[in-house]
Amino acid sequence: MTATESPPIPSPSRPGPVIRMESVHKTFGSGDLAVHALRGADLAIDPGQFVVVLGPSGSGKTTLINLIGGIEPATSGRIVVHEVDVTALEERGLTDYRRAQVGFVFQFFNLIPTLTARENVSLVGELVGADGAAAARTLEQVGLGDKADRFPSSLSGGEQQRVAIARALVKRPTVLLLDEPTGSLDLETGRQVLGVLHSAARSFGSTVLLVTHNSAIARMADRVVHLHSGRVVEDRLQPVPLDASELQW
Ligand code: ADP
Ligand code: MG
Repeated sequence: MTATESPPIPSPSRPGPVIRMESVHKTFGSGDLAVHALRGADLAIDPGQFVVVLGPSGSGKTTLINLIGGIEPATSGRIVVHEVDVTALEERGLTDYRRAQVGFVFQFFNLIPTLTARENVSLVGELVGADGAAAARTLEQVGLGDKADRFPSSLSGGEQQRVAIARALVKRPTVLLLDEPTGSLDLETGRQVLGVLHSAARSFGSTVLLVTHNSAIARMADRVVHLHSGRVVEDRLQPVPLDASELQW
């Protein structure tokens, strides 16, 4: 090979952000009654990051993840997740997007009370064509392998939230969105749930966006974003996150 035939320089494999928000506005209502929940929010999240979004009540946290998750439409601006322009999708495309790319976890678990833990998880697994053993495997991953046949009413709050995390992860979502996931748990249970969440999300390769008003949780994040009055006012990397077991609040 001569000098003029040098091999192409491999382009460094730097994947772009998995979540990109550009100048996103969300207004509820109109005229005098308009509420501006988001006022030009910008964000770019790299794949695999564990991101905590902090903000006081009313700052737009729930709105932010509902828009990223395709549950509600933006008023203006652009949201791109995994190369899909969510803000350009029609209803059908949104349904596919939510099903294939997004896992949601809420403060109050929202499990189906008449189904066992395994059935709650497999119901979602089936939607995305996961194999029959995926539910049991995912429950094992959140430490509930031995409680798969329990109904939600015979599980503790922390266990129910771990089922909800398994239900969100069984589809191996690109993004896992959590809205105050420890808001109704005591400190020790909250730490356990966050520890399980962290390792399970990592093993599934999901990018995590957790929104909360509890600033203590931010110490376990790779990245901390502050939201205020519908805008991102601070966004910093945290080079040495704490282990969930070390959190105090
Ligand atoms: P957070 O989760 O940080 O508490 P939200 O995103 O729930 O904040 O709300 C942001 C603002 O938008 C608040 O003023 C809230 O009252 C308002 N809001 C949220 N959802 C609606 C809605 N469906 N209709 C009208 N106003 C809403
Ligand atoms: Mg909220």
